[in-house]
Amino acid sequence: MPRFTAMPDHSDPRLAGLTAAAHAVQPRTVALRRRLHRNPELGLELPMTRTAVLDELADLPLKVHTGRSCSSVTAVLEGDKPGPTVLLRADMDALPLTERTGLAFTSEIDGVMHACGHDTHVAMLASAARLLADRRELLAGRVLLMFQPGEEGDHGARHMIEEGLLEPSGPAGTPDSAYALHISATMPTGTVQTRPGPIMASADVLRVTVRGRGGHASAPHDALDPVPSAAAMVGALQTMLTRRVTALEPAVLTVAQIRAGTTSNVIPDTAYLEATLRTLTEPTRTFLHEQVRQVCQHTAAAYGCTASVFLEPGYPITVNDAAASARVDELAATVLGPNRVSPMTSPILGSEDFSYVLNRVPGALAFLGGCPPHLDPDHAAPNHSNRVQFDEAAMVDGVAMYAALALDALR
Ligand SMILES: [Zn+2]
Repeated sequence: MPRFTAMPDHSDPRLAGLTAAAHAVQPRTVALRRRLHRNPELGLELPMTRTAVLDELADLPLKVHTGRSCSSVTAVLEGDKPGPTVLLRADMDALPLTERTGLAFTSEIDGVMHACGHDTHVAMLASAARLLADRRELLAGRVLLMFQPGEEGDHGARHMIEEGLLEPSGPAGTPDSAYALHISATMPTGTVQTRPGPIMASADVLRVTVRGRGGHASAPHDALDPVPSAAAMVGALQTMLTRRVTALEPAVLTVAQIRAGTTSNVIPDTAYLEATLRTLTEPTRTFLHEQVRQVCQHTAAAYGCTASVFLEPGYPITVNDAAASARVDELAATVLGPNRVSPMTSPILGSEDFSYVLNRVPGALAFLGGCPPHLDPDHAAPNHSNRVQFDEAAMVDGVAMYAALALDALR
């Protein structure tokens, strides 16, 4: 990979020893991660999680603020010299699942689990703050640590931005760059992947109510059955996607919920569909919103029914700055080793609310491999599974990477 060999930073003395330092704080990193893992919380209000973060940061020279509209925490580390601001993000929320990993530190809260590894993100960022606090003389500028709730669908990052996170009057002024790491249970442990441009999709929710007229199931001609209309809509939406969007442009529409009726001999008044719509460019997203409306309304009309179509905008497309994603690759090669970095050939169609930050600040989201070494990454339970496991050793790499990203941005 020649693009890594010509970089001037390979011998950057400021990056030397980061991995060793991350190893030295690993007992703290693991302890915090397990504390969070035992006590997972959902959504925007994470009181126990916030307390754990505040406890862990308490002895560091940081300016700490807590959110008003949600359980967010921001902490600012001032370098010894003036300079730009770099934002580092960790999301903090869990998922509504009952854990089935059998781990010794398994979730103690029934029906809630850190199944996306956000507990590891918090622990890694807190330990990176510790490493950076020990290296303030090397920092020209300030580090803004963003601990956000509500990543799993609750727009936590947007809440923080609405509270002024990125404003000149915000906790650290408007950041000049922004980075986030996300652990993945299906990538080899300690590896890093990112890409320039779109890396994750927009995720909008489509809700359609088809209205007909109920009646006796033996006399459909006397009623107006919404069920065939809804069924036709499922097919028509898929056909529209392949006929109206170029095959070179990724887009997914999955009707994941369909509901109608109560029993076999009654035609219901209404049928209901719910779908997720994923795209990687804004023009395609806008175009598909129009098309989806038309297809649903006209398909309903073809059956004598009507359709109310509601599109709820979800997270924006996550777009990495090309230079920032290249820096992630270069730093990972330097700090972890060139064999730990591989190009991410295509985006994934999951979504991320770090997109709200990257819409305003150039930066990058990167994935950190966390598949335990005794498991095969191709067959391991993925993120969001109630059996997912993450290799805690990968947190050493994540701590070193977060610290390296800040040291590099504040050179
Ligand atoms: Zn996640």
